[in-house]
Amino acid sequence: MHPALADDLSRLPELLQSARDFAAREVSGIGDRPVVPPAETTKARPLPAEGVGAEGALARFAERWAPGFSASAGPRYLGFVTGGATPAAVTGDWLTSAYDQNATGGDASSASGLERETLGWLRELFGLGEAHSGAFVTGATVSNTVGLALAREWLGERLGVRVSEVGAAALGPVDVLSGSPHSSIPKALSVLGIGRDRLRTVPVLPGGREAVDVARLADALEALDGRPAVVVANAGTVNTVDFDDLRAIAELKERYDFWLHVDAAFGGFAALSPEHAHLTDGIDAADSVCVDLHKWLNVPYDAAVQFTRHRNLQVRVFHNASPYLGLPTGEPDFVHLTPENSRRLRALPSWFSLAAYGRAGHREIVERNVAQARRLGEGIAAVRELRLLAPVRLNVVCFTLAGSATRERVHALGRAVAESGEAFLTPTFYEGAHALRAAFSNWRTSETDTDRVLEAVTRAAGSPRPATGS
Ligand SMILES: *Cc1c(COP(=O)(O)O)cnc(C)c1O
Repeated sequence: MHPALADDLSRLPELLQSARDFAAREVSGIGDRPVVPPAETTKARPLPAEGVGAEGALARFAERWAPGFSASAGPRYLGFVTGGATPAAVTGDWLTSAYDQNATGGDASSASGLERETLGWLRELFGLGEAHSGAFVTGATVSNTVGLALAREWLGERLGVRVSEVGAAALGPVDVLSGSPHSSIPKALSVLGIGRDRLRTVPVLPGGREAVDVARLADALEALDGRPAVVVANAGTVNTVDFDDLRAIAELKERYDFWLHVDAAFGGFAALSPEHAHLTDGIDAADSVCVDLHKWLNVPYDAAVQFTRHRNLQVRVFHNASPYLGLPTGEPDFVHLTPENSRRLRALPSWFSLAAYGRAGHREIVERNVAQARRLGEGIAAVRELRLLAPVRLNVVCFTLAGSATRERVHALGRAVAESGEAFLTPTFYEGAHALRAAFSNWRTSETDTDRVLEAVTRAAGSPRPATGS
């Protein structure tokens, strides 16, 4: 054994203790550090010929790279839809690495039993019935890709071909219809050989909505003249968190032949709040469903779940059995369900967080974040220099400058907020306007944090009198 490795082996408990101490310092100070550090580039160094041992590596990391890491796990990082990592989720994540299971299912381990239990919990949390089965994947993009891969196989079945055997070309041009699809949908269509251009956007409802106009969707399906299609419904758009009417879309299935995929990456968590649960009504009727877990469940990157009512198609697309063994039957191993063969036990952090806080604890995070978004929205609406671009429907505040809102000025506003070290927001383009989004999804965020964000934004917008909340 290399001496550095042998030395680390002999001191393994002390090493884990050092890592624990370092992580504890970093995480407990996360609310006080600048949300994004000043931009400085760390230069790459050559590959070490001889290593310095894990303790030495930790020291070099702490010195060279850690200072540039963002506080994306902290309470005022409101860019994208980021979420943090609950204490229990971090515990589960550490143990995932320590145990280093290969959760393929054929691994002579109870790990896949734990994954199945976690999937059952999540299915219940999101209001899905027993007909849905699922698997863990790395993120909503892959979850959407898996759902659309099943849709592609289903289209083949309608036309009497097996796409998994003969290839996507056998389908000819495919019709994918959606109102306000996430950017990961065209990416998935590119990967799947369907093609980005096959995504056709259907008009949304009037009056500043992002939800699809179901009557126009019906028109688009009617125009296909019986040709089977794919509908991507959106349960939580990123700019204004608008929801398609899932029940109304599902009812169209009585008249038209289509696969219904629901992208509920973070909007699926509306189901946890009795006030908002109606937004996800009808989700159970979907053929496939995507929900991200590294966003609003607050588990570390990277984790998402995909559900489907068509496990037979999933096994056809993703099975890894030798052809002479045939398709797996009964409860197929996860290796036959996902793009990965070898896979990390990414269910463990979710299992820990759900075991630790239950439905009630996770509901509290969702409801608190929604209240914070409302609070920030009201605050922004009261600042003369700023303008809300949409009502705060759930956990995202979409706003711009009241005066001239050029790309330059709005992006400069976002940069000024980031440079203040107080908060991080991401730019977007919505309703013909350059804008900023503040997305609340972190378990640590408090009312005080929300007011600090409002103050930072107000100051950066040049308002003479920083507001102090509603
Ligand atoms: C974030 C998001 C995705 C993509 O998720 P990743 O986890 O980044 O792959 C897809 N759809 C929606 C609606 C999202 O918010």
